[in-house]
Amino acid sequence: MTASPVEATPPNGHGRRVSVVLPMRNESKGLDRLFARLVPALDALGVAFEIVTVDDGSTDETLEWLKARRAILPALKIVSLSRNFGKEIAVTAGLARTTGDVMVVMDSDLQHPPESIAALIAPWRSGAFDLVYARRVNLDRGGFLRNAFSKGFYRAFDMMSEVKVDRETGDFIAADRKVVDAFLAMPERNRFNRGLFSWAGFRTTTVAVTMEERVAGTSQWGFIKLLRLAVNAITSFGTLPLKVWAFIGSAVSLSSLLYGAYVVIKTLLFGADVPGYPSLLVAILFFAGIQLIGLGIIGEYLGHVFSEVKRRPLYFVQEAIGFERPLEERA
Ligand code: UDP
Ligand code: MG
Repeated sequence: MTASPVEATPPNGHGRRVSVVLPMRNESKGLDRLFARLVPALDALGVAFEIVTVDDGSTDETLEWLKARRAILPALKIVSLSRNFGKEIAVTAGLARTTGDVMVVMDSDLQHPPESIAALIAPWRSGAFDLVYARRVNLDRGGFLRNAFSKGFYRAFDMMSEVKVDRETGDFIAADRKVVDAFLAMPERNRFNRGLFSWAGFRTTTVAVTMEERVAGTSQWGFIKLLRLAVNAITSFGTLPLKVWAFIGSAVSLSSLLYGAYVVIKTLLFGADVPGYPSLLVAILFFAGIQLIGLGIIGEYLGHVFSEVKRRPLYFVQEAIGFERPLEERA
């Protein structure tokens, strides 16, 4: 793949500085290959760039590798978080330190090909768009179960939330300064980045990109983690799960009322017969289950309220290296 040609002069208000944000947790094995492709791809853009890496509490040599590479690559900047905060927050920590005009967020495992950065920022460079998502053309990775789960999640999210997110667009994005500022202005502790970007609005488009396989290491997303992210995402972006209980409750009450009337009439006409214990037990268990689900969902929201009212900082930085000077225009 070759980089698309660079426009002669960018339109008004569009400087030429690119910041790349790379969240990393235990990625040391793949970093040689990542930088071997990333740096030439950025050089080919012909603009000033910085690479803001976020070490998200790695337990391998990720941080040491980055520090060593910095000696020969001054454009490399390092934010090292005090522990593992998760990808969404790592990306936020990186974006908070960027100084470019356009920010590219991508995974550090080479699933997002660096050569596609040129194509990804092209709509931004044209001045027509502020936020560009990479749309994966080769959709189904990660097996039947994971795909079914992901489809289900996006359907549920679209149904229940106040913003739309597209299943085919991932976390490989290019965002204008004003979009990133809007994103950073959102103070919530429970962060679902895709939803936040979507909620911010701005002129958005997508670019088709062929995603690749992770080069080394393992994906950090077990089923439980994905489920947590899904529940978090849905309960952070809409209140339908809370409100639906009013309808379910009303429907249940109404049907029990009808059933009550039926029982009274039946008793008056035909006299009382022996009550059916099995049906009684089933009804009690069923509605106990329904009530517990309702309680659990209220608990989910209460948990959000709790973590928001604590107003703790989103993350702590152990070490920030290379941020003394802002990114400068390339001569
Ligand atoms: N990541 C991170 N913190 C975490 C988990 C992951 O910064 O707690 C980074 C990881 O290093 C990678 C990106 O987030 O650059 C995507 O993670 P991963 O490849 O595990 O997710 P997947 O591609 O399987 O969705
Ligand atoms: Mg990955």
